[in-house]
Amino acid sequence: MPSVDTMISTRRVRGRFAPSPTGPLHFGSLIAALGSFLEARRQGGEWLVRIEDVDTPRTMPGAADAILRTLEHCGLLWDGPVLYQSQRAEHYQAALDQLQRARLAYPCSCTRRDLAGSPRGRDGASIYPGHCRNGPRQPGRSCAVRLRLPDILLTFQDAIQGEYRQLLASEVGDFVIRRADHLFAYQLAVVVDDADQGITEVIRGSDLLDSTPRQIYLQQVLELPTLRYGHLPVAVDERGNKLSKQTHAPPLNDRHPGPELWQALRFLGQQPPPALTHAPPAEMLAWALTHWQLAGIPATLTHPWRRSSAGESP
Ligand code: GLU
Ligand code: ZN
Repeated sequence: MPSVDTMISTRRVRGRFAPSPTGPLHFGSLIAALGSFLEARRQGGEWLVRIEDVDTPRTMPGAADAILRTLEHCGLLWDGPVLYQSQRAEHYQAALDQLQRARLAYPCSCTRRDLAGSPRGRDGASIYPGHCRNGPRQPGRSCAVRLRLPDILLTFQDAIQGEYRQLLASEVGDFVIRRADHLFAYQLAVVVDDADQGITEVIRGSDLLDSTPRQIYLQQVLELPTLRYGHLPVAVDERGNKLSKQTHAPPLNDRHPGPELWQALRFLGQQPPPALTHAPPAEMLAWALTHWQLAGIPATLTHPWRRSSAGESP
């Protein structure tokens, strides 16, 4: 691994891949793993893996191990220990306490049904109408905790998608940072973990682009450094559906991941030579590291991918 720090900033580049263990790694999640890996390593940086199992009811037993095994088979070897969100509740609690002390967080007793009529944001969650801003409407109920958002326009420069702007209050609304079932929300956990792991850049799928202003805002109020963000196009099928566990994207072939790695490089706008299609992962990644161009990635939120176009295993 190159050790030269090519960043102008004094902090060493550190990227990460943060899968949710809801199923095995498939082509869609390989894109995020590969893109974050190559961008970090290309700059001589480190690349960490974090298992985002904060939403324990959605966790599939064995999936975390299967994902890690597949990464190894793909030659995507990470630095340092793997962090598991399920073991970090005290850190999330400390951040929550800090927000509550600053009066930026408040308990909310609203149920899904209470919010059924409110408009929805890009991620499908309701834009919170503020019912409990001055105290929970139904204090007897188990409460979620929401972050109080100011009416500001948050703008950031995405390394792939360009400038992104979001009106926090009207497009997202006060969002949940701890759920009524007492599980910490992804938005809070990811910000705390990225900071604790010393992450400097986040390269991930564009399905999380609209979450980024929330995360940047949380970084600001928690006085944490803001990171560099780049959002990759998400692989979609012919009908425009995201490849996911829900759409039954097949798991990667651990015994012969070469063709899918090659396809993933093509998907990311790189030009691996056809002769490498069946090369061992280490050889393919060595090629990718010397040729990697972030600028080659299509600056679109989605990009079609046909499964049949993947090089078939011999
Ligand atoms: N755990 C999230 C997912 O698998 C990714 C979170 C992130 O990269 O910030 O969709
Ligand atoms: Zn409420």
